[in-house]
Amino acid sequence: MSRAFVGIGSNLEGPGTQVRAAIEALDGIARTRCVAASRRYRNPPMGPADQPDYVNAVAALETDLDPHALLARLQGLEAAAGRVRSGRRWGPRPLDLDLLVYADHQINDSVLTVPHPGIARRAFVLVPWAEIAPEWWVTGLGRVSELAAALDPDELTVEED
Ligand code: ATP
Ligand code: MG
Ligand code: MG
Repeated sequence: MSRAFVGIGSNLEGPGTQVRAAIEALDGIARTRCVAASRRYRNPPMGPADQPDYVNAVAALETDLDPHALLARLQGLEAAAGRVRSGRRWGPRPLDLDLLVYADHQINDSVLTVPHPGIARRAFVLVPWAEIAPEWWVTGLGRVSELAAALDPDELTVEED
């Protein structure tokens, strides 16, 4: 089994519910278990501002799937949530599932880059991630807790249950 972390985001079709459902769905992937999930955080959109706020969380997986097979399953869950690729970068979506890291692998091919290239700049990834795995060392970047501490968390608010 390998440890992977997934960044979850939604800003359409009931984002809080989408994120909760996604955590359940991740646990339902073949040969994969969700072993931890952060709280949910609300934050303003990255990129185009004319869209609803996002709800974000991070999940820890144990998986026997290889990284590309796992990415394919994540994309299957995005599609099942009704995601349509608009062609607009960082546009609104009911579900975004980004593979943040897959163990200590470094991959950079036409479909998959891990560690995910946005990690170091994104409080909405690092703050929830630090909740569940502060000591995790992101290959090439550093410790999750230290990466999170370097960013401004002010725009993030915890979603109450
Ligand atoms: P960002 O990746 O900056 O958060 P996004 O999540 O909105 O942007 P998507 O439209 O979800 O981007 O994905 C675009 C493409 O990124 C996908 O087709 C996928 O092949 C590719 N991709 C590369 N690396 C990853 C990764 N680590 N996790 C998810 N998708 C990835
Ligand atoms: Mg994304
Ligand atoms: Mg994505």
